[in-house]
Order: sequence, then C-alpha cells, then structure tokens
Amino acid sequence: MGTRLMLISPPPPTKTHNQFTPSIIPLLKTHQTISLPTSRKTSSKIQSTSKFGNFLDLKPEYQPESLDFDLPWFQPSDRSHFDVIIIGAGPAGIRLAEQVSLYGIKVCCVDPDPLSIWPNNYGVWLDEFEGLGLQDCLDKTWPMASIYIDDNNTKYLDRSYGRVNRRKLKEKLVKACIFNGVQFYKAKVWEIKHHEFESFVVCDNGTKLKGSLVVDASGFGSNFIEYDDHKVRNYGCQIAHGVLVEVDTHPFDLDKMVLMDWRDSHLGNEPYLRNVNSKVPTFLYAMPFSSNLIFLEETSLVSRPVLSYMEVKRRMVARLRHLGIRVKRVLEDEKCLIPMGGPLPRIPQNVMAFGGNCGVVHPSSGYMVARTMALAPIVAASINECLGSTRMIRGKQLYAKVWNSMWPIERRFVRECYSFGMETLLKLDLNETRHFFDAFFDLKPYYWQGFLSSRLNLKDFALLSISLFGHASNSSRFDIVTKCPVPFAKMMGNMALESIR
Ligand SMILES: Cc1cc2nc3c(=O)[nH]c(=O)nc-3n(C[C@H](O)[C@H](O)[C@H](O)COP(=O)(O)OP(=O)(O)OC[C@H]3O[C@@H](n4cnc5c(N)ncnc54)[C@H](O)[C@@H]3O)c2cc1C
Repeated sequence: MGTRLMLISPPPPTKTHNQFTPSIIPLLKTHQTISLPTSRKTSSKIQSTSKFGNFLDLKPEYQPESLDFDLPWFQPSDRSHFDVIIIGAGPAGIRLAEQVSLYGIKVCCVDPDPLSIWPNNYGVWLDEFEGLGLQDCLDKTWPMASIYIDDNNTKYLDRSYGRVNRRKLKEKLVKACIFNGVQFYKAKVWEIKHHEFESFVVCDNGTKLKGSLVVDASGFGSNFIEYDDHKVRNYGCQIAHGVLVEVDTHPFDLDKMVLMDWRDSHLGNEPYLRNVNSKVPTFLYAMPFSSNLIFLEETSLVSRPVLSYMEVKRRMVARLRHLGIRVKRVLEDEKCLIPMGGPLPRIPQNVMAFGGNCGVVHPSSGYMVARTMALAPIVAASINECLGSTRMIRGKQLYAKVWNSMWPIERRFVRECYSFGMETLLKLDLNETRHFFDAFFDLKPYYWQGFLSSRLNLKDFALLSISLFGHASNSSRFDIVTKCPVPFAKMMGNMALESIR
C-alpha cells in the first residue's frame, strides 16, 4: 500500500469509436443521408410497421459490446488480501474503484463481465458532468431542454443536457483503475462472510477473496444489504420504455431535448388509456440526435404500485402515431425500472452499499449517475482515512466511518425532503402534475436546478417550498394544501427517527 505502482504497462490505446454500433454511426454523422437497412428481414418488418403503426414488434438491433482492454486479473492462486473488494462494475462500482485506488489502496472489482458496456441510456445535466471533469464522456449535448406542460404551454429551460457515452465513460474510468493498480475478477458474488476485521467474498465458481472492506455496488437487485426490520420498504417506482430509433421524421427541435412532454391529445380516441393516464400519467422523454435518429422514452415518473409495463408501451404507440413518428428501425431498447425513495439501508453495517442499492437514487426523479460520480470521491476519502498508508482502522469503526461519509445526518434529512417530493408526486393526477411542474420550472434556476441535482440543503429546501407555493396557481395551492399534509407528517416523523438513532 501507500506507493502507487504501475502493475502493468501503460493503459492500452483506445479505439476512437463511438459507443453506438457501427450501423448507427452513419446516422449520427450525417443528418441528411441515411443508409437504409440492407437485410430483407428488416425491410419486411418496416412494411409491417407502416401497416400497423406499431413499432413494438420490431426487433432491436443492439448487440452487447465490450471494451477491448487487457485487464489485470486477480489470480485466485495469489491468495491476496485486498483492502477493498467492490462487487459490481456498473457506473457506481467502477467510479468508486477508480477513486479509492487513487490513494494507492489495493482494490479488486468483481463482476460477471467487467468489460461489458453498460446497457442503459444515461442522461445528465451538462454542468453536473463539467463539474466533475467528465464532459468528454458525453455523446451529444443539447443547449436547452423543453417541457410540454400541455398543448398550449411549453417551457424552455436554459440548461444544457447531455447523453452519456457509456463506452467513453467506462473506458475513462477503467483506464484510470488499471493505472492505479485495480485488479478485476470475472465472477458473480454468491455470499459474503464476515470476521471481526476482514470479510470473505465467495464467488459462484467457489473462489474466495479476502478483504478489509466489501462494497456492494451490484445495483438495485442486491441481496447483500440489510434493512431495519421495522421500516416499511415503501418504494415508489419509475417505469419506462425507451427506444433509440431510426424514423422518417419527428417534430422535435434538434437543439432541445424534451425533458417531459405531458400532452395527452394522442389519447383522444383511446378512452380507456386516457382515463388511466389522467390518474397515473406518463410523459415522453426524448433526445433528438438528428432529423431521423432519436431516443424516445415513455415514462411513468413514479407510481406505487408500479404502472404496468404493457400500459406504458401502449401509450407510447398511441403517442408516436399521433406525433406522426413512424419507426423504421429499433436500434436499442430498454426497460427502465427504478426503485425510488423508501428507507435507507441499516446504517452502519458490515457491507458498504454504493450506487443503486444505497438510497442515492433521487426520490423524485430517478436520476443517479451524476450524483454517484460526485459522491465517490467523498466515500473514497473516508476509506482512505481508515485504510490508507499507515492508518489501520478496520472492523466496526471502519464501517461506521464509511457509511457516515455517505449518509451524514444532514444528507439523510435532505433525502427525507426529496422523498417528501416523491410522496407528493404520487398523490397528483395528470392535471395536478401539470400545475406542479408549471410552478416548479418557474422557480429561480438555483432552486429547480439544485433540486434536480440534489444540491440543496435544508434551508434551501424550505425556501424552495415557500417559493413554490408563491408561484403556484390557486388550484395548485389547493392541491398542495390538500395533498401534502400526510407526506409532510411522514417526513417529519422520519427526520425525528433519524435524529435519535
Ligand atoms: C434503463 C435505465 C435507464 C436509466 N437512466 C438513467 C439516467 O438517464 N440518468 C440517471 O442518472 N440514472 C439513470 N438510471 C438509474 C441508475 O443511474 C442506473 O440504474 C445505474 O445503472 C445504476 O448504477 P449501479 O452501478 O449502481 O448499478 P448497475 O448499473 O446495475 O451495475 C451493477 C453491476 O453489478 C453487477 N452485479 C450484479 N450482481 C452481482 C453479483 N452478485 N456479483 C458480482 N457482480 C454483480 C452487474 O452485472 C452490473 O455490472 C437508469 C436506470 C435504468 C434501469
């Protein structure tokens, strides 16, 4: 430990390619000319799309991709002891590995496929990534974002938005990990066993890794993190269906991404869909890359119980038909299912959680990537305080210190405020949601931007609430007064519990 050794030769040269599959690159480069699909199979599907106006039966062309790096692999015969073992090579795991290893701390990252490119489409605000020096890891940025409140009210947000280039971001982080001496192991973690000052990670192939601290960054499905029994795990859930598609044409400006389109005129001839949408609304999120390449996602911001995935897709079909968007090819698709809000894991516990499983997802928006990138250096610094250089704080003291760096009491309080936002949104129907966002995006940028980027403190949050009430229409004030007392009481109760634990 201590010295930063280069265990391998300098990082391998990277390919200068875009994260998109080769067939998509021409679409991105040329905004006018499209090279149409050549295979007969795809052509016949195009015909069926135009006949039924439904893109759901088109098969996505996406092929999973990998980085072509030589990773420094952990050799089980070495019987090494690691300072930190990180489970999962998603954005959270890799970012934390990069940050912890900067201190010369010995890290191993375990994942069934450490080199695979992440499958999700991530969007972030440009200023969030610029602040972290990660702006070179964006595919495309839009100088503005638009919000369609309804057919007669569109708002334009003067804040740049970017789509994360998954390949570039992973490449950048993995290269730094390699440079800092992180080792990787290709396996699925099966079990974690704890002794007083060290833990054993048992993999599905029987291999055991030994370390002082285990960090679970295995995402939402993690089984290794414990929760207090008495806390109800009352998550809200974001569900969305997203597609990167080649289209004939679309109606959106190329210099604006669509953060939310709450219009529902597409459901005029669909009384059942319209009725359900008026109670549990969905909106369209869109990132137009060119006149014929666009990412579209029909999204239920938050629901409990979760809205049916089929319902989301049916609304999307109706919306695209109404907008005159005829899908010719589906290049990628994604099912987005994000648990939001709910209680934090038990703090502290022997395994540190980081990423999707540690409560860091924004309870009112479902965003997490930029926040995770920003929190990793803070958690890494606390790990360094315990395990770096000559210090050797291990066991319970280590766990408490690291968990508290992630969730100091002020941050837990602020999270309660964001969860209050989620609980309020859960109570709003379509019209109330429209009123809410109409007032929200009229706030000073400091507040709405700070809220969306999890940057507000308790005082800011109180000022935001007062200002929101001031900006709200009379009917919206009525919604606030009638819908907020229960979530507010819940928030105050949770804060009281946090302060005495
Ligand atoms: C479709 C989708 C779209 C999203 N879009 C956005 C967005 O635009 N902006 C945003 O901020 N957030 C977004 N999110 C939310 C969040 O940012 C992502 O879910 C993000 O991928 C979470 O990162 P993570 O590293 O915690 O987990 P994951 O990305 O899920 O990575 C976990 C890794 O752990 C590995 N793993 C799992 N179990 C084990 C095990 N037992 N042993 C070893 N390895 C294991 C997995 O193989 C995987 O590589 C989106 C989520 C989804 C699902």
